[in-house]
Amino acid sequence: MVGLTQYRSCAPERVTAFVGLGANLGDAAEALHAAIKAFDDIPLTQVRAVSSFYRSQPIDSSGPDYLNAVAELQTALTAPALLCHLQAIEQRAGRERPYRNAPRTLDLDLLLFGSARIDSPALTVPHPRMAQRAFVLQPLAEIAPGRVTPAELDAVAAQAIVRVKNS
Ligand code: ATP
Ligand code: CA
Ligand code: CA
Repeated sequence: MVGLTQYRSCAPERVTAFVGLGANLGDAAEALHAAIKAFDDIPLTQVRAVSSFYRSQPIDSSGPDYLNAVAELQTALTAPALLCHLQAIEQRAGRERPYRNAPRTLDLDLLLFGSARIDSPALTVPHPRMAQRAFVLQPLAEIAPGRVTPAELDAVAAQAIVRVKNS
């Protein structure tokens, strides 16, 4: 009989990924809840943690206030495959891109994918603008304090964001 340990190296590698969620059109809280539920239907992927929701005024964008959160996923997918599923969830939520930084029903950004550094036309990881955004760093620090330094939080401390209940 072959021991289970013999097959361990055949199992797909599992990676911890962090996804930033944002919405400022329609029922933003409902959009975030629905997205988190949809993450569980992504193949080979589980939701490990979800931050509180945070409300902030648009910075480079416009329209109503934003609601943001960060989710920790564990996945055996590749980063491009995970992004593809995230974009399908955005599409199902009615995401439109009439112009850059337009208000949106749902935005899902792949922030971190393990320790991977990816620089391709369709995917850059770590997300290139995450360090400038309190609405990313604060929820990320809430669920993964080791992934954000105090200096990084200090650098965005002037941005007004408010933690709100997420249920
Ligand atoms: P920002 O990237 O500044 O947060 P945005 O989220 O409004 O802006 P989108 O219109 O949602 O930008 O995405 C534009 C493109 O960014 C997507 O087509 C996608 O291929 C690409 N992209 C590159 N890196 C990432 C990433 N880490 N997560 C999500 N999309 C990414
Ligand atoms: Ca974004
Ligand atoms: Ca995006």
